[in-house]
Amino acid sequence: MRPVVPFVSSASPDERQVWRDALPCALAGIAEVKPFETLSEDERLAARVAIVANPDPAKVAALPNLVWVQSLWAGVERLAADLPEDGPEIVRLTDPQMAETMSEAVLAWTLYLHRDMPRYAAQQRRKLWQDHYLKTPQERTVGVLGLGKLGAAAAHRLKSNGFNVFGWSRSKKTLDGIGCFHGLDGLRTVLGSSDIIVVLMPLTEETRGLIGRDELAACKKGASFINFARGPILETAALLEALDTGLLDHAVLDVFDEEPLPETSPLWDHGKVTVLPHISAPTIVSTASKIVAENIGGYFSDGTVPPSVDRRRGY
Ligand code: NAP
Repeated sequence: MRPVVPFVSSASPDERQVWRDALPCALAGIAEVKPFETLSEDERLAARVAIVANPDPAKVAALPNLVWVQSLWAGVERLAADLPEDGPEIVRLTDPQMAETMSEAVLAWTLYLHRDMPRYAAQQRRKLWQDHYLKTPQERTVGVLGLGKLGAAAAHRLKSNGFNVFGWSRSKKTLDGIGCFHGLDGLRTVLGSSDIIVVLMPLTEETRGLIGRDELAACKKGASFINFARGPILETAALLEALDTGLLDHAVLDVFDEEPLPETSPLWDHGKVTVLPHISAPTIVSTASKIVAENIGGYFSDGTVPPSVDRRRGY
């Protein structure tokens, strides 16, 4: 008999249905995927692994013998905050296709800033015919904060499009063709040298509010930000102040302290802000389902739990 793998999700009914269709197919020869709500008590007690997407923590707690949970998202700060430290191990989604999609988004919005698109769009609204000096990509430095699965892919893509690329991570790294920095001194160097700064770090206790007024003051004058990671890493009040005083030129924001972004937010109407509705790298159901199936298949064949979140580090 195939083991039962609970699917625990408080996502919207439409989103849940997409996964309820895809996951049983992907795991067909491996396990029976059942929505939490349909489990018998025996099935709840027997479950060793569950698939989760914005789960209600009480439901995860009602699966007392879980060894690990497979998240369908890449960012797991909420899950890590919700589940007890001695609870099941948390495996986040790492999907090479997502890294590809994110690096495409980083390139697209870097080019948007590099080719002055916000300025030319504003000029069109004023019927103003005026050209501006065009820099080559080699004359622009892009700093990527976070050199993990997504940040490293983005840094390489920017490099192969001619940009001068700096990267910053927690631990020391070497990436071909990328100037790699770490530590707080390294952060100042990257901020002070970059024309465009891309945020691709997880939200943890250390990164919450990491880019505030002092860090923005350390940026190169006229730099722009792209935040594709999590809203609270970049302090909104400090960002608005830096944009208003001319310290920064523009911000492309895909993530916010509160999502959806409330209608009352000043970010919506700010001339130097581009608002995106958290779309830079959505989970792709087809590739993600295959990865989830491989991870769970591996666990049931030889007991291997895929690399999981370090609860002390927070990612
Ligand atoms: P990852 O592989 O875990 O990489 C995280 C990177 O951030 C690593 O290089 C890590 O340094 C660095 N880092 C962590 N804490 C740091 C600190 N305190 N100081 C300096 N560097 C630090 O994560 P990922 O898969 O690349 O994903 C990054 C984030 O993107 C996710 O956590 C998620 O929030 C976000 N995301 C957003 C979207 C979207 O659609 N907007 C989609 C997917 C993911 P080390 O290399 O030294 O460990």
